[in-house]
Amino acid sequence: MNVDGSRLLASLRHLATFSRPGPSGAVTRLPWTPEDAAAVRYLAEGLRAAGLHVRQDAIGNLWGTWDVSAPRTIILGSHRDSVPAGGAFDGALGVVAALEVVRRLRETGYRPRHNLEVVAWNDEEGARFGTTLFGSRVFVGALDPRRVADRVDADGVSLGEAAARHGFPVERMLPASDLGHVAAYLELHIEQGPLLEREGRTIGVVSGIGAIYQRRITLRGTRLHAAYSGTDRHDPVLVASGALAALDEAVRAANAGREEARVGATVGMWRPSSELINVVPEEVRFTVDLRGPDPAVVLPILDGFVAEVERLASAAGVEVLLEAVNDHTTLAGGGDPTRPLLFDAALGERVNQAAGERRLPRRAIFSWAGHDAMAMAPRVPTAMIFVPSRRGLSHTAMEYTVDDDVVHGADVLLATLLAVDAEG
Ligand SMILES: [Zn+2]
Repeated sequence: MNVDGSRLLASLRHLATFSRPGPSGAVTRLPWTPEDAAAVRYLAEGLRAAGLHVRQDAIGNLWGTWDVSAPRTIILGSHRDSVPAGGAFDGALGVVAALEVVRRLRETGYRPRHNLEVVAWNDEEGARFGTTLFGSRVFVGALDPRRVADRVDADGVSLGEAAARHGFPVERMLPASDLGHVAAYLELHIEQGPLLEREGRTIGVVSGIGAIYQRRITLRGTRLHAAYSGTDRHDPVLVASGALAALDEAVRAANAGREEARVGATVGMWRPSSELINVVPEEVRFTVDLRGPDPAVVLPILDGFVAEVERLASAAGVEVLLEAVNDHTTLAGGGDPTRPLLFDAALGERVNQAAGERRLPRRAIFSWAGHDAMAMAPRVPTAMIFVPSRRGLSHTAMEYTVDDDVVHGADVLLATLLAVDAEG
């Protein structure tokens, strides 16, 4: 059995039209916005037309249920939001593929042995309120929404206000009471890295989420005029630069001579307390995101960076405040941060076989990015399927997966679902 490829591609293109106006090809669909509400209406219509029971839970996640009164349920889906000026594939692909899979099963008269549910998670990106994996983490009980209700977006609107305005008061957002009936969670997603394309492979069988460590660093020194002629400057910018240069060196050494990096370092936020050309800022705040497949490689680099910040700061008489923002286990709501978050090996083997039966070139791959699947993985058997992303570009209008790979990915999702369903 195969999905209807042209119908799938048409749905994917149509979902991309629910976007705030922006640069050509870019999609901006943030949570609790008219664009998102319109996308929900469109997806709900498709799910209803396929004969599913549709509802939006109190968290804003959209569900389409094919209830056959079976004791167990298979869930498939991904997230429907995007980052600002993001692409048309990240998240959207997994949602429309799940819809297409059930649509196809319904029209062929297939009788599932499990209840099947399609989910379009709300606010995975956290782009508006810094609430990564909001919909799935609240759903599994890994995040108390009241703890983030006061977070504000760029316009000063709080998450609590925005959600309530759309009919979703935070007080009513409760986690699912029990996930014991869930036999599997399956998510198709674009790779967001270059490996599959570079190796000419169509399917990535995702082993799990590697290491992700995010830290916020505040360095406080003394505001001085550039004309200060003493030698006792307490310059937080120079401390940060020194530590970041050492970090860059450590990252380069770890990746030297490799096609596939072992670690990536990102300074995503950099905020000096002043931006005057002739003033030493009193303070600089910045973030460091370190990630890679293997915590055993990434963690020592993080430790080395922290030690270097502390060494340089103490030598310069600069105060250090270090905050852990997230790691892959806090995002997942549990686990050992020194180990990767592994998906279900048996389910991964189903994906591998499904791709093999279709003679699709494939490989095992670690995700460098967080996904809703990481909230599900500690609680229900979980598998992710990756398809290539052109030049590894994602979170941009340039994000693109060729039509054939989109369809192959959905076919493998369908075949994996059939294999899991057949197990009873
Ligand atoms: Zn995504």
